Amino acid sequence: MPGRPVVAVAGVTGAVGREMLRVLEERAFPASEVIALASSRSAGKQVPFAGRELVVRELAPDSFAGVDIALFSAGAGVSKQFRESVVSAGCVMIDNSSAFRMEDDVPLVVPEVNPRDVHRHNGVIANPNCSTIQMVVALKPLHDLAPIERVVVATYQAASGAGAAAMQELYEQTEEFLSGSELTVDQFAHRIAFNCIPQIDVFLDDGSTKEEWKMVVETRKILAAPEMRVHATCVRVPVLRCHSEAVNVEFASPVDLADVRRALAGAQGIELLDDPANGVYPMPAMLEGTDATYVGRLRVDESAPHAISMWVVADQLRKGAALNAVQIAEELLK
Ligand code: NAP
Repeated sequence: MPGRPVVAVAGVTGAVGREMLRVLEERAFPASEVIALASSRSAGKQVPFAGRELVVRELAPDSFAGVDIALFSAGAGVSKQFRESVVSAGCVMIDNSSAFRMEDDVPLVVPEVNPRDVHRHNGVIANPNCSTIQMVVALKPLHDLAPIERVVVATYQAASGAGAAAMQELYEQTEEFLSGSELTVDQFAHRIAFNCIPQIDVFLDDGSTKEEWKMVVETRKILAAPEMRVHATCVRVPVLRCHSEAVNVEFASPVDLADVRRALAGAQGIELLDDPANGVYPMPAMLEGTDATYVGRLRVDESAPHAISMWVVADQLRKGAALNAVQIAEELLK
């Protein structure tokens, strides 16, 4: 990998793609060139990057000649369609979609957790699901402290997790609701304004959703803990950005809450916001646009042996998607 790679961003006009450009710029990623790619609908449009405008090109099989790293966030179908074109051009695909995450020879990487896995790639590295990323950042220092046996999580996921159009629908439905107009429901299974929807992605035969399944299998893969028992309930809430999670953790042996607190406070990528008596705990409204995974409401769960509960919030467009992908690219350059 050259020290100053050519980087393509596929899906550059989307919620994640736009954030990728911001993250590349803010972190001064050493790209010799950044190429903006999206569908034919966007060809010729301009997107801002580093004080200038990039002209969007249509994503095509020949887009990757001379490109070293392709950051993909254009949906699973598009990633599958272009995998061969990317890899055969000698380019490394860092893919935000769910297309390849559970393939054995595709590393699934959160740089705070399993950075070395990056180098085991065969042309494709997968970015985990946004809800999984922030949870494993918080679980990793705890699993190092004492082996985790079981995790039960309920998520409160922002509208922007479903893309730019979904975030727009939350704005528009809220206006429609407040003005007494008929609501336009297009992006979600039900109205999202002033509502909570306990369905993200499709339902599976066992009654769980695919989003919930992803949190189970991806957590085990990233933490290299195939025996870990994980149970998730994923809910879409009328928040613009930042996913929140109520996470209950059962350890194999007793842990001291002070040690848990110390482990989290010293962990890479985590900020503790935990002073509930003074109203200090993480909340989406205060954390939009931030990079850390925030943990608060830390407490012992007396209802099970060796268990604690915590509240975990992160901006899923940043740590859950764009930032994590750029961090993977930075690992590749090391
Ligand atoms: P989005 O806002 O709907 O953006 C989709 C992007 O994909 C747009 O740039 C769109 O280009 C492009 N695209 C769609 N069809 C295309 C095609 N046939 N050829 C080329 N480009 C095409 O969606 P998003 O939220 O950014 O999500 C993108 C991907 O990231 C999805 O796989 C999603 O699961 C994943 N992801 C999202 C989040 C999140 O928080 N949103 C987090 C983690 C992972 P046009 O503008 O030209 O249509």
